[in-house]
Amino acid sequence: MDKRMTIQKMIVEKKVMSMKNHPCAEEVFQEIYKEHPHISKATVFRILSDLADSEKIYRLHTPYGANCFDYRTDPHYHIQCSKCESVEDIEVRDVQIPQNPLETNGFTVTGYTLVYEGICPHCKEASIEQNIVENSSDFQ
Ligand SMILES: [Zn+2]
Ligand SMILES: [Zn+2]
Repeated sequence: MDKRMTIQKMIVEKKVMSMKNHPCAEEVFQEIYKEHPHISKATVFRILSDLADSEKIYRLHTPYGANCFDYRTDPHYHIQCSKCESVEDIEVRDVQIPQNPLETNGFTVTGYTLVYEGICPHCKEASIEQNIVENSSDFQ
């Protein structure tokens, strides 16, 4: 790996470590672009993929929208808003997931994805306000 690549990799890794909101690749690129407009999107995407493959960061497969990246690599659980697609960490107790299925149909199991789905407080509030607006227009 040449020196330029090493520096770019450090820039991307540092940026992901500073973003605690589970950004997708596009969001990471947008943040890097503000400070380093010379680094191409393809490079950022490739470095993100390399960092995830080498487990420096965690790649989360999400039910809605693009996969996102997590500076946390320790085991923890996520919830995603089905409206705005934001992802947050949640505390879960006593999770029991069958990690060693007996029959894998010839597959080699490499992992699993568990993401809870819901509506975030922000979207909940927005939909309540929307209802108030709709209801109040009935009285006019
Ligand atoms: Zn939301
Ligand atoms: Zn997380």
